[in-house]
Amino acid sequence: MAVYIGSKEKPARLAKPADSFDVMIVGGGPAGLSAGLYAARAGLEVVLLERMFMGGQAATANHVENYPGFDNGIGGPELTMAMERQAAKAGLVVRSAGVVGLELRGEEKEAELEGGMAVKARAAILAMGARPRKTGVSGEEELRGRGVSWCATCDGFMMKGKNCAVVGGGNTAAEDALYLAGICEHVTVVHRRGEFRADEALARRLREHPKVTIIWDHVVKAFEGEERLRAIEIESVKSQERTRLPVEGVFVAIGEDPDTALVKGQVELNRDGYVVAGEDTRTNLTRVYAAGDLRVKPLRQIVTAVSDGAVAATAAMQDLRYAPTRAKSLEAQPVT
Ligand code: NDP
Repeated sequence: MAVYIGSKEKPARLAKPADSFDVMIVGGGPAGLSAGLYAARAGLEVVLLERMFMGGQAATANHVENYPGFDNGIGGPELTMAMERQAAKAGLVVRSAGVVGLELRGEEKEAELEGGMAVKARAAILAMGARPRKTGVSGEEELRGRGVSWCATCDGFMMKGKNCAVVGGGNTAAEDALYLAGICEHVTVVHRRGEFRADEALARRLREHPKVTIIWDHVVKAFEGEERLRAIEIESVKSQERTRLPVEGVFVAIGEDPDTALVKGQVELNRDGYVVAGEDTRTNLTRVYAAGDLRVKPLRQIVTAVSDGAVAATAAMQDLRYAPTRAKSLEAQPVT
C-alpha cells in the first residue's frame, strides 16, 4: 500500500500509463539536484519530481558564505539555479509535480502525482529535505503572512524601517537577524537559552551589531494582533515572567522537521522522523536512498546535501547493475 497525503483513498485510476525511468528523485533541493547531475552523467534515465520551486530551503538563503568555491559567498537562489542548469545540461528531466503517494517496497518504485499521473523507476532517491518548525503557540497560524513568517529572505523586505523579532538561536536565526538588521529599524532576537547554537563567527557579528538586541532565556508564548501582528508575548524560562514586545514582524527560525510523512511505515525513520541511512545513503529498502537534510546525520548543510546526492546516485548506479531490467527496456530487446 502506498501512503497518500491529503486523502485517505487511492486516487482514481491513472489516466495515463506510468512513465518509467532508471532513477526517480523526490525533491529538488541541493541533494536532489546533485543526485540528478551524477545520475544523468552516469547515463541513467533519471527524473526529478519537485512540487514547489527548485533549490529547496537553500534557494531562500540570502547569502551562503560557507559553500566552498565562492570566496565572497553567493546568493542561495544564484547557487541553486546554477545547480539546476548544470543538472539539466547533463540530461536530468524535471517534473513540476506534487508527489501524493510513494510505494517503495517492490522491485519497481512508484510515485503517484497530483492529478493521477504516476512515475515508475527501478531506484528512488529521497531528497525531500525538511520544513521549518512552528512554535505552535496561539496566533502563529492566524497571523501567517500578516507579520509572521518563516523566511526572512522571502518576506524581510516588507519589514523595511520597522521593528521586528527573530525567534531562535541557530545559524538560520543568526543569518536572518543579520539580514533583517540591514532592512529593519531594529531587530530583537529571542532565544530560549543563554548561548547561541549558531557558529561563533555569526554569533559574534550578531552580538556586536548596533541594530540587534538579544533577549536570552525567553520563549514566545503568543503572537498578538487582529488584522496584522502587533506584538509577541514572551516568557522567561527562569522566572516565568511574561513581557509584551511590540513588533510588526516575527521571523520564526527554530529549526526544521524532516519531510518524511510520505515514506513513514516503509522506510525506517528515527524518533525525530529522519531517515535512518548511513554514509552510503542506502535505506532499509532495496534501491531506495536518502540524501540531504532528511537523513540522520551530524551536519545539515548545503555542502553535505550535495555530497549525499552524489553518493546516492553512485550507489543507485552500482545497485542497478544487479537489478531487474525495466519493463520498458525489456520490450525494446531484439528477439533472438
Ligand atoms: P538549528 O536546529 O541549528 O537551530 C534551531 C534553534 O532554534 C536552536 O537555537 C534551538 O534552541 C531553537 N529552538 C528549537 N526549537 C525551539 C522551540 N520550540 N522554541 C524556541 N526555540 C527553539 O536549526 P537552523 O535552522 O538554525 O539550522 C539547521 C541546519 O542548517 C544547521 O545544521 C545549521 O548549521 C544549518 N544552516 C547553515 C547555514 C549556513 O551555514 N550558512 C545557514 C542556516 C542553517 P537550542 O539551541 O536551545 O536547541
